Amino acid sequence: MSAVIDAPSQNPGKTLVSLRNLNKHYGQFAAVDNISLDIQDGEFLTFLGSSGSGKSTTLSMLAGFETPSSGEILVGGQSLVSVPPHKRDIGMVFQRYSLFPHLSVRDNIAFPLAIRKLAAAERERRVDAMLKLVQLDTFAHRRPAQLSGGQQQRVAIARALVYEPRILLMDEPLGALDKKLREDLQDELRQLHRRLGITIVYVTHDQEEAMRLSQRIAIFSHGKIVGLGTGYDLYQNPPNAFVASFLGNSNFLKLKARGNGAALFEEQRLAIRLTAGLNHDQDVLLMVRPEKAQALSVAQAELEPLPQGWNQVAATVGEVLFLGESQTCSVVTAGGTAMTVKALSAAGMPLRSGDPVRVRWATADACVYTEWQASDLNKAAGAH
Ligand code: ADP
Ligand code: MG
Repeated sequence: MSAVIDAPSQNPGKTLVSLRNLNKHYGQFAAVDNISLDIQDGEFLTFLGSSGSGKSTTLSMLAGFETPSSGEILVGGQSLVSVPPHKRDIGMVFQRYSLFPHLSVRDNIAFPLAIRKLAAAERERRVDAMLKLVQLDTFAHRRPAQLSGGQQQRVAIARALVYEPRILLMDEPLGALDKKLREDLQDELRQLHRRLGITIVYVTHDQEEAMRLSQRIAIFSHGKIVGLGTGYDLYQNPPNAFVASFLGNSNFLKLKARGNGAALFEEQRLAIRLTAGLNHDQDVLLMVRPEKAQALSVAQAELEPLPQGWNQVAATVGEVLFLGESQTCSVVTAGGTAMTVKALSAAGMPLRSGDPVRVRWATADACVYTEWQASDLNKAAGAH
């Protein structure tokens, strides 16, 4: 493949794109609210957020379809803001394939080269290579309507890549496809990225897709980036309660700090150990992932003393759900705090609705926040 698209000089760790204090206002409304972000050369970075959180607007400014209200976009240190879209060395793929219905697959892919007036032989060579890359060589003469949705999207990807842009932007490109096909194309995209070494900025509202594809994820909420990092880090160590709540599932306990690495769970007059020492009387939110917590029957809890460095609260089982690979158990404390515990089915969860239980977790597996809003704990909070 490298004979056709030269992998751009791999500068791992080097910034290719910089968004600096980028804003897009519609009247009084900030669709993009002062975003600053460095995207590295060769990186696969995903904008993840609920609908309306500002992902597409940010991508459109990078592509040149929208003009920022203020702020800078730099590529390789050069400002892009006054450069028209077709001169930006950027390819773009949308959810709707926007192929030309009257042109063959081959001519659709060749189109960007035709308008760039490439010599015919070179054009043929690149289109052939693209057809191979997206595995559509045998479909070259078909019209888009004679292809499945997944094949049409592969044509759109080939068309975006054929002029060898340095950066590929993709806005929910797999959104219209069913789950199995989406997963196949996710695998293809990962391989494509690895092979070509280009920088991909990808937009999705699907966190599993973001996790599967990306080296880093930028989490969007209300026009801002509220979390940035690898999927692993954002999940294991969310920077704030919003990210904790948005990504995966989480249990939240409201506590009062006591200032000595402990806090009070007031409803049970229970001291909870914390990793951080916080000011006395400060409100604290403790977060523990369902799979990091355990639920034990009262009898079991008496047989297995609480290990050093663990916490435990009393609760009553609401529901136990068998989900195949895993099981979940929802519980509620006497004071009405709901929690969920998740375990692999193989581990067994011999609990029933109404059972009194003890919910346990290791202090090191919990995260602690001192600033949050009630809306952060609501999963849909990223949307308007
Ligand atoms: P996302 O891609 O994350 O779903 P968008 O970037 O498309 O979100 O939109 C962000 C916000 O900006 C939304 O509330 C949307 O309604 C608003 N918005 C986008 N384009 C316009 C426009 N042309 N005029 C007014 N509001 C807009
Ligand atoms: Mg969008």
